[in-house]
Amino acid sequence: MSFLFSSSGDSRDSSFIESQRMGGELHDRLEENIRPFIDLIDTLRSLGIQRDLDMSLPTIVAIGDQSSGKSSVLEALSGVALPRGSGMVTRCPLELKLRKVTGGSSWNATISYRKKRFDVANSSVGNTASSGARQDVRVSYIPQTITFEDPSLVERHVKDAQIALAGDGAGISDEIITLEIRSPDVCDLTLIDLPGIARVPVQGQPMDIGNQIKTLIMKFIKRPETINMVVVPLNIDIATTEALKMAQEVDPEGTRTFAVLTKPDLIDRGTERQILAIAQNKVVPLRKGYIMVKCRGQQQIDDNISLDEASTMEKDFFENHYYFSCLLNENKATIPCLATELTEQLVSHIKKSLPLLDEETKKQLSEVRKDMKAIEGGPPRDPQGAKQYLINILTEFNQKMQSLSSGDLIIKENLFNELRVEYKKWNGFLNNSMSTFFHPSAKIKQEIMKNRGRELASFSSYRVFEMLLQKHVAQLKDPAIVLVNTVKDITFKQFSCLSKDCFWRYPELLKLTMEKIEDIQSRQQRKAEERITEQFEMENMICTQDDIYFKTLNRNMKEAFSDTQLPLCDIASKYSDMLKAYYEIMVQRMADQVPMLTRYCMLKEAVQLLCNDMLTLLDSENVGEILTEDTDIGRKRRDLQARLDRLNTAQEEIDQCI
Ligand code: GDP
Ligand code: MG
Repeated sequence: MSFLFSSSGDSRDSSFIESQRMGGELHDRLEENIRPFIDLIDTLRSLGIQRDLDMSLPTIVAIGDQSSGKSSVLEALSGVALPRGSGMVTRCPLELKLRKVTGGSSWNATISYRKKRFDVANSSVGNTASSGARQDVRVSYIPQTITFEDPSLVERHVKDAQIALAGDGAGISDEIITLEIRSPDVCDLTLIDLPGIARVPVQGQPMDIGNQIKTLIMKFIKRPETINMVVVPLNIDIATTEALKMAQEVDPEGTRTFAVLTKPDLIDRGTERQILAIAQNKVVPLRKGYIMVKCRGQQQIDDNISLDEASTMEKDFFENHYYFSCLLNENKATIPCLATELTEQLVSHIKKSLPLLDEETKKQLSEVRKDMKAIEGGPPRDPQGAKQYLINILTEFNQKMQSLSSGDLIIKENLFNELRVEYKKWNGFLNNSMSTFFHPSAKIKQEIMKNRGRELASFSSYRVFEMLLQKHVAQLKDPAIVLVNTVKDITFKQFSCLSKDCFWRYPELLKLTMEKIEDIQSRQQRKAEERITEQFEMENMICTQDDIYFKTLNRNMKEAFSDTQLPLCDIASKYSDMLKAYYEIMVQRMADQVPMLTRYCMLKEAVQLLCNDMLTLLDSENVGEILTEDTDIGRKRRDLQARLDRLNTAQEEIDQCI
């Protein structure tokens, strides 16, 4: 039996609610108004739409201190006996899915959860580990599903599931247990029972159990789609209720939080007035207010009092209570009243969530459609058609490659930006080498004396000049080769990215393309290296036009030289400047030359070679084989189609309610 809103069949519940709150006419209107929304969420949930959306569906979550009566309230609401008692009974989130079945089906339930499995695998890790082998712990989840037909087994199955997930100690787990109950006597609603807040760890519990539970609760209550039902027992001081504080923290406006006051039969004599004030929202005001309920106490459970009997006893309790009977008229007491309130709140919450749900569904729909488009169709099966198809996709690929090489932004990472960064580094390195290039005249004179040949004293030796420059220039070669390699890495990454973008559906074609890219790029890398080696050999010659040399030299000196004064230049005191001037010229040459060379070999020429090479694929004997589709594509197409169907149905349902 359930007190939550149910549309048909259970005339006792309906009439009970009716007698509590409203006349028949109003009830009919309510039914008309709320049924479609409850149905909508239920349909969406059974479609499994949560998997497709970035939001959860409106749900009611019960939070509160340990033993505050959460499970008892849910039990009374749902008519399903749950594990309850003192200490920590609920140790995992329990999602209670109530499904109304019609057509003569009898009560049955399915409990499902994912059992964690730890596999220890030995893996040898090459040359890095001295021990030779390492132990990897892999976590996998094994879905467990048990269906049963005896309501009295609920408690046992829930307990077993909790032991499987959180161990048989007193620990908790945030793995969810889903208990779906199909019965003619329940309504379609989903409620979540969470572990209660524990203040002091008991034996076997980790020291931070309190924080663990709070983190778990937070995870659920912070979702804007959740209605927070805070359960507060009346035999403790409401001001110390942690759960209420947490709910207020995540919902400061109080638009989705309300409180249920439990255990009114256990309050201290003399506190009734004050408790009444709490229930009437006068002490800790909540926008959505309070509802007081009385559930089965331990004694009543021990005495096998049924839920039906308990509900009659609850009614009697309130009717005969000197202080609390007024709450009945104010619709602030009893489980049926809570049920109506919950349903109304859920519906209003669903209505509020609808625009967002609609927007999210539309967004997902458009994404799925886009993905579908990307794998639409496929290559024709006949050889002629397949060849034409290959021509088309190769042409498209080549065009994209050409655009890439001429600087269009084809894939996310900007190729020329990446290259520019490296070229800038190279330039910086050269400039740096220039500032450290310093040969004082005295040192040069010493070198000249050391290397003096047949010349008379005081004649300088040009060979020493050459030697000093050559030594420096040679030091630039290795970094230039490193730059070639870096450029290769960048272009290779971009080429492969583009190839994957274009050919991901055709693993064979992608493989052939990648082989070609690798082959071409390593050939081009060798070529660039040879060119650079050649360039450095040429640099050994020490050569520049007089004009360029004088221009640089004069810029660096106070007096001006020209080629009419050539012999005058050979002044020992100026050697240092002369060396520097030449080095600067050489550095400027290299600053452009190496980037130009790498860009030419590794990008421009490489792309040209690749494009030509790709066209040779058209001569292949078996075009069909090249165009073999990834086996995952079919599966992907099916998955997308299923998602599309789900989302379309969801959208239709939402449109009807909006
Ligand atoms: P939870 O830990 O919050 O889920 O609390 P439970 O639902 O397991 O309840 C804890 C204990 O309080 C159980 O023994 C219940 O029988 C008892 N209990 C719950 N609600 C009431 C109530 O309204 N009156 C009385 N007397 N006992 C209650
Ligand atoms: Mg509980």
